[in-house]
Amino acid sequence: MNIAIDGPAGAGKSTVAQRVAASLQFVYVDTGAMYRALAWAVIHNSVDVLDQKAVSALLQNAQIELKRMQDGQHVFWNGEDITHHIRTQEVSNYASVVASYPDVRNRMLTLQREMAHQGNVVMDGRDIGTHVLPDARVKIFLTASIEERARRRYGDLIAKGETPDLELLQKEIAERDQRDKERKSAPLRKAEDAVLLDTTSMSLDEVVINILALCR
Ligand code: C5P
Repeated sequence: MNIAIDGPAGAGKSTVAQRVAASLQFVYVDTGAMYRALAWAVIHNSVDVLDQKAVSALLQNAQIELKRMQDGQHVFWNGEDITHHIRTQEVSNYASVVASYPDVRNRMLTLQREMAHQGNVVMDGRDIGTHVLPDARVKIFLTASIEERARRRYGDLIAKGETPDLELLQKEIAERDQRDKERKSAPLRKAEDAVLLDTTSMSLDEVVINILALCR
């Protein structure tokens, strides 16, 4: 049984997906981390992010791994643990640019399906219910108001000791959502058979309990 959790930036997908996976003893797969890893590599290797061929070539020749460690899931690019470098605003913005390239999405699709091959995964992203795992037994589309999503991201960054600008964060999230929704290749949208959960005024516990009830 596979579980697909999709939704826009900052809706709480990864926290919820990790909790659901831990409860069911399923494997958690954070597909956003894979696009972020590629974005990090683009920046790290000084590749022009607008050069689709160069970005795709970088991905075709690379190995991306997701490994479960004690403090959560880690992402490796060609064997290098880059987990702590992929959550910056710069990487977030680049990730949604590289994610619009069809060759990049095709390669990611193959990798993600391989990861889900054995079953019992909770996979979160933007196109899991619609493209990567269209046969997932449970599909959730998690959302929340843009103001609430920006506030949550703001809280995360403050907790990390950063000094974010709330208005700028909201603007960047809105731009990222727009790019994700308007791209031609596997855009962000709710699968017809997905359950919509608006978490604007729900606690994390409530969301997790709801999803576990659906799974049962
Ligand atoms: O979920 P997260 O914010 O980490 O994802 C980063 C970016 O990766 C998203 O803004 C989106 O452009 C892209 N993405 C995607 N498809 C997925 C997961 C992430 O296009 N399945």
